[in-house]
Amino acid sequence: MSLPLPSLQHDCAACSGLCCVVLPFDAEQGFGFDKGAHTPCSHLQDDFGCDIHKSLAANGFSGCIHYSCHGAGQRATRMFGESNWRSDPARKSEIYSAFTQLQKLHGLQHLLVFAITKVVSDDWQQRLLAEQQRLEQLCRQVELQNAVDIEAAEAGTLAILRQLATEPEIVALRTGKTNRG
Ligand code: SF4
Repeated sequence: MSLPLPSLQHDCAACSGLCCVVLPFDAEQGFGFDKGAHTPCSHLQDDFGCDIHKSLAANGFSGCIHYSCHGAGQRATRMFGESNWRSDPARKSEIYSAFTQLQKLHGLQHLLVFAITKVVSDDWQQRLLAEQQRLEQLCRQVELQNAVDIEAAEAGTLAILRQLATEPEIVALRTGKTNRG
């Protein structure tokens, strides 16, 4: 059965470099130098490109190579149209908040989509899909700038994933002992 799964791919060309601004960096975790949240990376260019994009690892930024916002960056950028954190500083906190919330919700959706591709039970696929769609509805609320309880959303998703992890079928999948597929 083909399921309507979102792509959740990041598209840096359609983004105002939000991860490079909003997120803190820790040099010890592969981000070159320490910087606080809501501070632009010194390598971020005026057009939101990266001046060391072709040599990230050599410059100590292997963390950037592995990071993905799972599509939250371009989504948050799109929300504000022509405005971005640089052109419209008065809207910075709104933009940063939208990205932070969408990043969490997209990250959780990514976990669910990964799980959907691994489970063999139709019931579990449908349950995980329903949860992914619930999170997508919350993303739409973020886009409308309505209040969303991100912690509660995360707790709900993680509870489902924890339950999934205890399912005999999943354990069987991990150990290669499933008799399906
Ligand atoms: S926030 Fe996402 S889309 Fe934007 S630059 Fe970072 S990884 Fe790319």
